[in-house]
Amino acid sequence: MERLVRSCYKKQGGYVFAKKADQIAREYGIKRIARLASNENPEPPSSLAISAAEQALKTANRYPDQQVNSLTDALKAHFGDYDFVIGVGMDGVIETLFRTLVDPTEFVAIATPTFSFYGLAAVAQGAKVISVNRKKDFSVPSEKIIREGKKAKITVICSPNNPTGNATPVEIIREILDGINGVLFLDNAYVEFSDYDYLPLLKKYDNLILGRTFSKVHSLAGLRIGYAFVPEWIVPYYIRASTPFTVNTVSAAAAIGALKDSDHQQRYISQVKRWRKRFADEVKYPVFASDANFIMVDVSPHTSDDIVETLARKGIIVRSCQSFTGLPDHYIRVSIGEDWENEQFVRAINTL
Ligand SMILES: *Cc1c(COP(=O)(O)O)cnc(C)c1O
Repeated sequence: MERLVRSCYKKQGGYVFAKKADQIAREYGIKRIARLASNENPEPPSSLAISAAEQALKTANRYPDQQVNSLTDALKAHFGDYDFVIGVGMDGVIETLFRTLVDPTEFVAIATPTFSFYGLAAVAQGAKVISVNRKKDFSVPSEKIIREGKKAKITVICSPNNPTGNATPVEIIREILDGINGVLFLDNAYVEFSDYDYLPLLKKYDNLILGRTFSKVHSLAGLRIGYAFVPEWIVPYYIRASTPFTVNTVSAAAAIGALKDSDHQQRYISQVKRWRKRFADEVKYPVFASDANFIMVDVSPHTSDDIVETLARKGIIVRSCQSFTGLPDHYIRVSIGEDWENEQFVRAINTL
């Protein structure tokens, strides 16, 4: 019966997940695993998030507020008078935005190498993906992006970029917004770890969307909640295109709690800034400058998959960049975790 499956899913491999920590632990009999593959905040969620979620759970017999007004209000209180949409993770936001804007056979331009889900979401809409290669230093080639972005419904840039770690200067983004004809989706999953501020652009441009997530700095990856700063015109259409009651009550409540706990966020941001420097100083392989909570390491002459496997045997899970289209197969991505995890990684990689 597989003949019934859509051809786009027969061709494409889908999202590539990091090898599950438990699986490694079982295979090698290791108890304490350093989990540095998924860019999560290693600290448990804020107690404010947990108590808000517990309260919300008591009302779970009722359907959630479809427009998640409680969370959009909290975001407005936190950031100021912007327009927001909410989704099941930023991945959910991306999926719904594509459904809102992109018809089959229309173009989506993506600056690569980058996060794979944009391409998967585009293909699911029947769109055609134009990959625009980043330069040798992984900066964004603005003229090329603009050329392709004139044809595309959505242009996608990830900043800071996953997996390379570098951010794109605000001036370049401004140039691109002036040049393209469609919308720019700027993925800001890691922006809290950088010194870049794209919010002022929202005042001037009605073709800019900033994607954000509660999965990284806010320690809520398991609750699947994301949002985006959007131009006002898109909001009613996004709601129409979205599945009814997408975001659950418990996740929305936890997100509101997390937003209030700036100490919780700041603790991890300081940890990230301290360790970006230590990784750059102490790892014997070349480490790319990062504006995110992870670093990319050039492990040549080894291959990424070899290094990932060797580290896994030592109980350290990092991400192979082999599955990132457009990257040679000698890069790994390492999240900044707790001190012991980071230290264990440095010690291990330096012996290879
Ligand atoms: C982690 C990540 C996301 C968001 O993930 P969700 O858990 O779906 O919110 C989005 N973009 C990039 C580049 C990421 O690394």
